[in-house]
Amino acid sequence: MKKLKNMAEVAKRLSHKKISTPVVCPKCGSARIDLYLGGYAGRTYKCLDCGYIGPVVIELEEEKR
Ligand SMILES: [Zn+2]
Repeated sequence: MKKLKNMAEVAKRLSHKKISTPVVCPKCGSARIDLYLGGYAGRTYKCLDCGYIGPVVIELEEEKR
């Protein structure tokens, strides 16, 4: 159970950082992206400009991977 707890902590940290990470729409390039759905497996974003909804977004900051 120690492993599970560690994973949860990492996911928590990642999700916390992801929210503050600027992302842009892969379709129109707009930075007005909203988090549509979030979870452990992945996240879905929604573009406020063109209405694109998808899990793939371009992250402007690539410091940590
Ligand atoms: Zn868009």
